Amino acid sequence: MRAHSLAYGILYVVLYAAGGLLFREHPLAQSIYGNVGLLVPAIAVCAIILRRRSEWAGVQRLFWDTFLLGMVLWIIGHVGWAFSDLVLRRPSWLQWHTLVALIARPHHGVRKGAAAAIAVDLTSYAMLGGFIYAYFVLVPSVVPAGQDLEGTLLAIVQVHRLLLLSCLVGAALVANDRRWSATYARLAVGVGIGFFLRISTSLAIARGTYHSGTLFDLAWIVPFVGYAWAALQAPPSPQEDDSAIETPVKSAPAIVSAIPVFLVPVVGFGLLRLQALGDPGDSFRILLTTLVTIAGLGLLTLRLSVQGGELQRADARLKLLAAAIEQTGDLIVITRIDGHIEHANDAFVKALGYSRAELTSKTFRDLIEPGFEQLGAHMTSEVRSKGLWRGTLLRRRRNGTTFPAGCTVVALKDRTGEISHFVGVERDVTDELRLRDQLVHSERLSAIGELIAGVAHEINNPLQTIVGCVELLLDQRPATETRDLELVRREATRAGQIVRNLLAFVRRNTPDRIVMDLNALVRATAELREYNAMQRNITVLTDLTPGILPVLANRDELQQVLVNLLLNAEQAVAADEGAGTIALRTRSDGRMHVFEIQDDGPGVPADMRGRIFEPFFTTKQIGEGTGLGLSIAHGIATAHGGALELVPTGRGACFRFTLPAYREARTDETLARPRGEHERLARHPNSPPRA
Ligand code: ADP
Repeated sequence: MRAHSLAYGILYVVLYAAGGLLFREHPLAQSIYGNVGLLVPAIAVCAIILRRRSEWAGVQRLFWDTFLLGMVLWIIGHVGWAFSDLVLRRPSWLQWHTLVALIARPHHGVRKGAAAAIAVDLTSYAMLGGFIYAYFVLVPSVVPAGQDLEGTLLAIVQVHRLLLLSCLVGAALVANDRRWSATYARLAVGVGIGFFLRISTSLAIARGTYHSGTLFDLAWIVPFVGYAWAALQAPPSPQEDDSAIETPVKSAPAIVSAIPVFLVPVVGFGLLRLQALGDPGDSFRILLTTLVTIAGLGLLTLRLSVQGGELQRADARLKLLAAAIEQTGDLIVITRIDGHIEHANDAFVKALGYSRAELTSKTFRDLIEPGFEQLGAHMTSEVRSKGLWRGTLLRRRRNGTTFPAGCTVVALKDRTGEISHFVGVERDVTDELRLRDQLVHSERLSAIGELIAGVAHEINNPLQTIVGCVELLLDQRPATETRDLELVRREATRAGQIVRNLLAFVRRNTPDRIVMDLNALVRATAELREYNAMQRNITVLTDLTPGILPVLANRDELQQVLVNLLLNAEQAVAADEGAGTIALRTRSDGRMHVFEIQDDGPGVPADMRGRIFEPFFTTKQIGEGTGLGLSIAHGIATAHGGALELVPTGRGACFRFTLPAYREARTDETLARPRGEHERLARHPNSPPRA
C-alpha cells in the first residue's frame, strides 16, 4: 500500500474525473457523487494519520495532529456546505487551513520537551487565521447590507494557498533531514497542483459555472492526495532520540507566539476605517477584535508559563545529572571529536592535578604518557565501529607522575547520528595491578614450595644413610683417625638441617594451633636473644602495647618467625657498625595485632626489596645465609591469615608482622609462657648445626 500510494492517489483522481463525466447529464446525481467523492480523500488522510499516529512523537506527532485537526474541521465544513448545496441550494464557503502545522518544524527532531509550547504557538496562529476569516468574511456576510464577499473569500483562499505552497517549498529546501525534506516536497506537489487548479475553480465560482462533481473539485482532491501520500511516507520518529545530543536548535522565542496576538488588534482596529461596514458590522468587528486580543493574551501567558515550566524541569534534570557526574568516584571526562577536553568531573580534576581551566586547553594526548598516542587512534576507530572501547592506558598527571587507568569510552551522537563527543569513564587501577602482581608472586612462591618439598624428600633419605654409615665408621675407628669422618658427619648434618628447613618451609599447616598472647611471645623471644645481643653491643628495646594480644597460632611456627626476624636484624646491625639498636613493638586495632621489628643496620637496598621474600635469596656469604628465613616467615604469616612485609623507614630495616586477633575470650590456660625457646632457636635456618 505504502509503496504504491501515489499510484492509488492518481488512480482516484482519474476515476473521480471519469465518474464526474458520467453524471454530466444528471446534476443532482453529480452533486451527490461530487460531495461524497470529495469526502473520501479527506477521510483517507485522517485514517492514515490516525493509524500511524503512534509512530510519531513530540513535535512530529503535533505536526500530523494539526493536519488531522485541519482535515476533521474541513470535513465538518464540507458536510455543512454539501447540505447547503444539496438541500438549501445556497453554497457558502468554508476553508480550513493546515498552514499553521509548519510552525512545528518537525524536521528539527522529536523535541518532546518543546511540544507543549509549540502547541500553544499553533493555537495562536490558528486563532489569527480564524480571526481574519471571521473579520473579513463571516462578519460582513451576516450583517444586513453586507457586501459581495465572494471576491474577498476567493482572494483569501488563493493567498492562503500561495502562502502554504511557498512555505512548503521553503521547508523542503531548508530541512536538514532528507526524509522530512521529501515529506514537505510531497505536500508541496499536491498543494502546488491544487493552487493552479484552484485558480480555475475560483474563476468558475466567480462566474457561477461551478458545479460539484466536476473537474473543478480536483482543486481539493489533488492536495488531499498529496497529504495522504506524504502522511503514508513520512518518516517515523526515531526511538533513541532522547539520548541524542541536542545540537542547539533555536527553540522558537516567545515573540513567535506574540506576533499573532499583536496582529489581531493591529488588523482589527487598523482596518476598521479602510473596509468600513458601518454599524452594526463594525461594532461586531470591535467586539471580535477585543475578545480575540484578550484570548490571545491568555494564550501568550500560557505559552510563557509552559516554556518556564519546561526550562525549570530541564534545569532540575540537568542539575541532577551534573551532581551525579560530579560526585561519582570514577573519573569522567568528555572530549570533543578533535580530542579537546569539553568537561571533566571533580574526581578527574583531582586525579590529574590540573585546574579545570587548564584542562579545557588540553587534549586527550596531553594527558597520557608519551607512547600511548597510537592507542588514541585505535580507541577512536573501535568506538566508531563497535560503539565502545575498554582498555587500560597510562595517564600522566600534572607533576609528571603516571598512573594506570582502566577506561570505558563511548561515543555520544547528535541527532543526525554523527559522533559529536567521546565520554570516558576511568578508574585508577594501581592498587588492583599491585594486588595482581602479589597474587602472581605468591603463586610463584607456592610453585617453588612444591618443587622444594619433592627435592627435600629425595635428598633426605641418602643423607640419613650417609650420616648413619659415617657414625658406624666412627664407632669402628680409633679416635685419632676420625678427623675426616667427623668433617663428613658435620657437613652431612648441616645438609640435613638445610633439608629440614626446606621441609619446614613447605609444611606450614601443622594443625596444633592454640590461643596465645603475642606480647608474651615477643617478650620471651627478646629475653632469649638479649644476652647474645648485649655481647655484640646491640641494645634490644621493647615497646609492647599494654594487655594481652590473643592470637590463634602454632607456637613453634610463630616463634620461628620472631627468631628469624630477630636474627636477621642482629646480623644486619652487626654487619654494619657492630653496634646498634633493635626495637620490638606491638600494637593492635582490635581486629589485627601487629608486631614490628626495626633495626638501625644498613637496611634493604631498593632494588632488593621485591626479592628478599623469595626462597634462596640471600646477600650473605656461603655458609652464613640460606636465603630461607624470610620466605619461611612469610609463608607462616600467610598461613595464619596474616602478613609479613618490609615497611619503609628512615634508617635500617623495619619488618611488620600482622596477625588476625583472636576474638573469643578463651585465652586463660593457653596464654602460658612459650616453652622450649632454646630448642626453637635451633630451628632458624642460619643457626649453626648441632654436633
Ligand atoms: P638469609 O638471612 O639466609 O639471607 P633471609 O630470607 O632471612 O635469608 O633474608 C634474605 C635477605 O634479606 C638477606 O640476605 C638480607 O640481604 C636481607 N635482609 C633480611 N633482613 C634484613 C635486615 N634486617 N636488614 C637488612 N637486610 C635484611
